[in-house]
Amino acid sequence: MAVAMLIQLFPVGRLLTNCYVISCDQTRATAIIDPGFDVFPEAAKIFQFIDNNNLVLKLVINTHGHPDHTCGNRLVVEKFHVPISIHYDDAPLLGRFGERITRLFGFQTSSPPANHRLQDGDVVRFGRVILKVMHTPGHSRGSVSLLGSNEVFTGDTLFSGFIGRTDLPGSSGQDMVLSLNKLAMLPEHFVVYPGHGPITTIGQEKKANPFFQSVGRS
Ligand SMILES: [Zn+2]
Ligand SMILES: [Zn+2]
Repeated sequence: MAVAMLIQLFPVGRLLTNCYVISCDQTRATAIIDPGFDVFPEAAKIFQFIDNNNLVLKLVINTHGHPDHTCGNRLVVEKFHVPISIHYDDAPLLGRFGERITRLFGFQTSSPPANHRLQDGDVVRFGRVILKVMHTPGHSRGSVSLLGSNEVFTGDTLFSGFIGRTDLPGSSGQDMVLSLNKLAMLPEHFVVYPGHGPITTIGQEKKANPFFQSVGRS
């Protein structure tokens, strides 16, 4: 039987980060991708959604280590006592070092250290949902995209109409091109759930995203 994955989007924080609450429709097992809320009223709305739908939160996944995607980790962990997963290369951005960065950027809260360090090809399971980890560095060293069977969560790598910044510490324009090439190999019907902005598809981005179109031509 096909597993349906329920996906709820909450744009959160000053940078309108897309926080996704994803759950298995059969077991209610749930993951939060990128809890970028650093004030309690925003967190409360999402926690309420989890309670109201009898969801069972199993873990937090960060697509990468930037504070607009990780600043709510602590609020989630304090309430639900769940582990945090992030790619090896961005794990150092959490914990004590991350605290300095988050304060520097004016965020109210920060993240505890990572519990699970992800690598390319790993699978993250909750209930019957399986997300495959694809390492897509470029925006940050440890950026990942998470692949479902008909969808991909791209963090700050691929957006509708544009791509993530590559002028930050830890960014690499060369890696970004390789990562976009990997994403361009996905089936066109794949729904793209980016880290900011509207939801799109791989096919739509191949048609209309000038940064995505230009990859794979050299
Ligand atoms: Zn970012
Ligand atoms: Zn971001």
